[in-house]
Amino acid sequence: MGRTHAMTNLLETASLSHCELCPRRCGANRAAGARGVCGADDSLKIARAALHYWEEPPISGERGSGTIFFSACPLKCVYCQNHEISTGGFGIEVAPGRLVEIMLELQEQRAHNINLVTATHYAHLLPDAIGEARRRGLSIPIVYNTSGYEREEAVAELADLVDVWLVDYKYADADLGRALSHVVDYPETAARALSRMCAVVAARGGELVDADGMMQRGVIVRHLVLPGHTDDSCRVLDRIWDVAGDVPISVMNQYTPNERMRASGGELSRAVTEDEYEFVLDHADDVGFTQMFWQEGGAVDESFTPAFDTTGVLRSASAG
Ligand code: SF4
Repeated sequence: MGRTHAMTNLLETASLSHCELCPRRCGANRAAGARGVCGADDSLKIARAALHYWEEPPISGERGSGTIFFSACPLKCVYCQNHEISTGGFGIEVAPGRLVEIMLELQEQRAHNINLVTATHYAHLLPDAIGEARRRGLSIPIVYNTSGYEREEAVAELADLVDVWLVDYKYADADLGRALSHVVDYPETAARALSRMCAVVAARGGELVDADGMMQRGVIVRHLVLPGHTDDSCRVLDRIWDVAGDVPISVMNQYTPNERMRASGGELSRAVTEDEYEFVLDHADDVGFTQMFWQEGGAVDESFTPAFDTTGVLRSASAG
């Protein structure tokens, strides 16, 4: 399938000369140093690589998830809580070989898994990096932590490399995606990607959870409730059910208005109220989800947003 460019190997590095890695398909010549809409060029930038304890319990467990935060992002969410790295480009440029080392170092730190956060625009590097890490002894699962805005072709090509798809399903209303993340086709694109994620997991034998409750293979679908948009949240849950059935879901209330949103004075300048959150959780129950994670306590907690201080990115910083 494809238009003027062969799509048989979307993740081949050669594809960077006309990048169509993500659904934006902006065609940037990253191989020549141009930046795509996502902000990435031909270099690999990482903002942080460290154990992270605030993912869902089957991901973080007791020892933490080996989280690698990549710089840049195909989405342009106005409320982004990681805006320093998503649009600010914060991070350190490293060679792809360093990514392999980082994965192995996180395993040495006893991470339950390797958690690739927003790797969409670096997906072309993953087959070699994960393959090499596996050859050098990486044995823990690979978690692909994504905004949901993925090409289903990329999901298919990553099927044998990724063990757990941790996917944030953001909007059911395309207009909301347009207004808040500057994409025109979010709901349909995310639905196709999620459907493919479920299919590739099923093809590998379905969900697998070990005796300690840690997910070894599977799909977890997240949704961040936004203040003033609970109706869309309910429609998101309906859509997830339609596409993925009774998949484990994680309904989050951790929305934290960034500086820009606080200044805007609109609905996104505040946290989600308890009533709003309860409304969405009740709907999830009504839909029929039986495996649901939710968040307790205050809605706004800075601990969910780690310091992007390049911890673990360079060899010397990660020792010990
Ligand atoms: S990954 Fe970046 S460069 Fe590639 S198509 Fe998407 S926005 Fe464009």
